[in-house]
Amino acid sequence: MILINENFLKLQDNYLFSTIAKKVEKYSQENKNNKIIKLGIGDVTRPVVPVVIEAINKATKEIGTKTGFKGYGPEQGYSFLRKAIIENDYKSRNIILKENEIFVSDGAKCDCGNILDIFSEKNTVAITNPVYPVYLDTNIMCGRKIIYLPLTEKNNFIPEFPKEKVDIIYLCFPNNPTGTVLNKKELEKWVQYAKENKAIILYDAAYEAFITEENIPHSIYEIEGAKEVAIEFKSYSKTAGFTGLRCAYIVVPNELMGYTKKGEKISINKLWNRRTCTKFNGVSYIIQRAAEATYSEEGKKQIKENIKYYQKNAKIIKEGLEEIGFVTYGGKNSPYIWLKVPNKMTSWEFFDEMLEKTNIVGTPGSGFGKCGEGYFRLTAFGTIEDSIEAIKRIKKI
Ligand code: PLP
Repeated sequence: MILINENFLKLQDNYLFSTIAKKVEKYSQENKNNKIIKLGIGDVTRPVVPVVIEAINKATKEIGTKTGFKGYGPEQGYSFLRKAIIENDYKSRNIILKENEIFVSDGAKCDCGNILDIFSEKNTVAITNPVYPVYLDTNIMCGRKIIYLPLTEKNNFIPEFPKEKVDIIYLCFPNNPTGTVLNKKELEKWVQYAKENKAIILYDAAYEAFITEENIPHSIYEIEGAKEVAIEFKSYSKTAGFTGLRCAYIVVPNELMGYTKKGEKISINKLWNRRTCTKFNGVSYIIQRAAEATYSEEGKKQIKENIKYYQKNAKIIKEGLEEIGFVTYGGKNSPYIWLKVPNKMTSWEFFDEMLEKTNIVGTPGSGFGKCGEGYFRLTAFGTIEDSIEAIKRIKKI
């Protein structure tokens, strides 16, 4: 008899996006002439930039030659990419990292789940509410105790320290779904908290490229001492349109230590390296060359253009909503606009009203956790034309 991991039975079915899809499909069938604007998506829509495509083509040709063929690459990622990451994403911000601290992967989603392999199931985990569901579900799968840190208007979307002791803390800033950020002082407090409580912060900076304001950290390592308490997750998905190409990386500093039951200190980096070598065979050479190309002068320029495009959408949506009295959060340093649902409606009631009266699709905040009730997420990943049209429609009602 095969015994299953019964923790999987504790997972709640995630109906959020399938329910949205069903409602939209039904509405479209009944109202064939109405043009629906989809501002619920968390995926990028702009094509991959030319510099990246050139790098893919070049690397593809290269591996078709006798001298350029590549078989298995290093599990942790090719040196050329890890060096480019260190130079461009960190050294430019006065953060010094070593090559062995960077692990290239096929996505931050997998990294967020996989990292849990190296931590005891006895650890207590703190996650924000609302939250990117991956942190929650991956921990339920291993049966860890979970503590929620509300992100609400009351605390200005700044998570407060938990009342009971936690060991693993997930922080995602710029935040998905709220689009809000932590400034340097606020993040410093969390680093200090982690140090005092011998906890580890799993810092998801997948949306770092959307930061526009000064004093908002792009990396947790901008905070002194963070290397002793934090792992950082980065992704090319939203930064460079790699949601389909798949490339990301995590930083596991050499200073970071975990403990055995007996209290012996163990290097987290060594554990993660062991785990990576055992369970992963690296990201394809072609894709790593593609990621490297994002750091060329031309690559940086082309990527910035796409980010600016989305930022413009965010501004149009946020300012348009505020002009007519909506209360919004996020949108300044993030592609997500978190709007407060008016008239005490629930998130789903507002979803239905938006669909019926404006033909706009967003995401009900309650789908990201209890504290998301009463909010609604719109994203800047559509077109400029759709963003303008969406605001026009909302203004009319
Ligand atoms: N982290 C956050 C907060 C996200 O919102 C997403 C995707 O939506 C990811 C990670 C996933 O990134 P990747 O495409 O690299 O798996």
